[in-house]
Amino acid sequence: MKLSIIVPCYNEEKVVSLFYEEVMKYIGVGKTISDYELIFVNDGSKDQTLSECLKLKDIDSRIVIIEFSRNFGKEAAMLAGLKHAVGDLCVIMDVDLQDPPKLLPEMYNLIVNDKYDSVATYRVDRKGEPPIRSFFARKFYQMINKMSDIDIVDGARDYRMMTRDMVDAIIQMPEYHRFSKGIFSWVGFDTKFLEYENVERVAGETKWSFFKLFKYAIEGLVAFTTFPLRLATFMGLFVSFCGFMYMIFIFLKAIFIGDPVSGFPSLIVIITLMGGIQLIVIGVIGEYLSKTYMESKKRPNFIVKKKY
Ligand code: UDP
Ligand code: MG
Repeated sequence: MKLSIIVPCYNEEKVVSLFYEEVMKYIGVGKTISDYELIFVNDGSKDQTLSECLKLKDIDSRIVIIEFSRNFGKEAAMLAGLKHAVGDLCVIMDVDLQDPPKLLPEMYNLIVNDKYDSVATYRVDRKGEPPIRSFFARKFYQMINKMSDIDIVDGARDYRMMTRDMVDAIIQMPEYHRFSKGIFSWVGFDTKFLEYENVERVAGETKWSFFKLFKYAIEGLVAFTTFPLRLATFMGLFVSFCGFMYMIFIFLKAIFIGDPVSGFPSLIVIITLMGGIQLIVIGVIGEYLSKTYMESKKRPNFIVKKKY
């Protein structure tokens, strides 16, 4: 079976050739995986990533390079790779060697011999990551698993091998705001999970700032659950109930005890609290509205400048 290896790259000049060397230890003539294609998706890199990929293409004709017209993000790069892949199996890998290529033969065997549709991976630890980042990542997975019908393993990677059927299902999902970890789970299919210990990237720097990750987390939540919208309704009901009880309380107090004019501080507290809650709710609605707006434009996820 032919394996398509999809590799999103953004400013990765230092690691492209290291990646190629490492992967070639596990694929090629005489190995478990002999028929392959390597698809580098150059996501608008501003460094020498493209020329590094072209150098490799000179020595290996099974390399395909898809060059984007600008940076569209990893989600778009993965989708482009999946759409261009011709293999019977596809695997998505980071170029920084954080997704160990030594798992490839095992993943391949699990699909070919054990008839799984997909083999996914997750990290058992988050060694080398800032603790605050790990904390929020954990919280995010807990939240999305509770609020939506999809299940995402904590520490799940995008490193995953899939059959053609599963890939076809994924590329048929037309959404613009893509959250692949959710999509992989949503489409179903029999998935086997492999675990491994976190590996730090060989060279270069991570492209994910804390703020970018936060934005991505909101995208994931908005894409796979409408629970926050319902939360607004519950919050409204709860606050209205409290307001009503307080009204009765004041009414009775005025009748039985009498009520001199007072209560300026409590008034301010209630006004600011209510204002805050209303703004939060409007913000939540805005998140969904803005996503709906962007989806309705039906813009392509990426634009290919050139394919080599
Ligand atoms: N990447 C990409 N486009 C982007 C950002 C990242 O194609 O806009 C690629 C990057 O080249 C790498 C993978 O996505 O192959 C994962 O990126 P990174 O290592 O920075 O993320 P981390 O492992 O720190 O989560
Ligand atoms: Mg990485």
